[in-house]
Formats: sequence, C-alpha cells, structure tokens
Amino acid sequence: MPKLESILIIDDDVSLTRILREELNSVGYDVEVINNGTEALDRLQKEFYDLILLDIKMPEINGFDILKELKGKNYPGKIIVMTAYADVENTLLAKKLGADDFLPKPYDLDELLITIQKVLHS
Ligand SMILES: [Mg+2]
Repeated sequence: MPKLESILIIDDDVSLTRILREELNSVGYDVEVINNGTEALDRLQKEFYDLILLDIKMPEINGFDILKELKGKNYPGKIIVMTAYADVENTLLAKKLGADDFLPKPYDLDELLITIQKVLHS
C-alpha cells in the first residue's frame, strides 16, 4: 500500500482540530494535530509533513511567525493558512510570506479538500 499523505494541523482551537482531524482521516490522510505553536516548531525540526494547515491567531507564537521561520529554513512541505481573520491584509501577508494557499474559518469542507488536493499536487 502506498504511504498516505501526511498533514499536520497547527491550531490552538482544540474542538476544531478534533473535528478536522476526523474529517481528513476519513478521506485517507495521515493526520496529526498540535495545539501549540512552540511545540509545532519543535516537532517540525524532526518531522516532515507533506502539508501543514496553519492557524494564524495562537498564543505564544502566531502563525505568521511560524510561517516565517519555516520559510527561512526552506521547509519543503506545503503550507495552507487558515484563519477567522481572513481579510485582504492577512491574505496578502500570508502569500507574501510564502503560504501556498489561504482559507477562511469557519471552513467549508469541500473547499478545504479541493484546496488540499490542489496544493499537494501542484
Ligand atoms: Mg487560533
């Protein structure tokens, strides 16, 4: 059996990540969740994921700082930023910092799955 594509969800919203993990698991992705930005950066030193779903607003380290850090280290995986603050400014900043795509929260599952497919296979 081929290896499943791996996704790391980085988001401080515990109930959202619980549901999202289930949803992505059920369509065949290998999903892990980290609810804390500092811990996420730690994990990403050691582990590679095909795709990261990254929240912006988190305590300690926000998503933009994580994005900067990963891009500074040429992290080879894809990154989709997800935020409830999906205004033009945040969208542009995410793109400028090198995010592969950007989605608003609450997310539409079909749209999310299409975006994940697109980003993973482009
Ligand atoms: Mg958050």
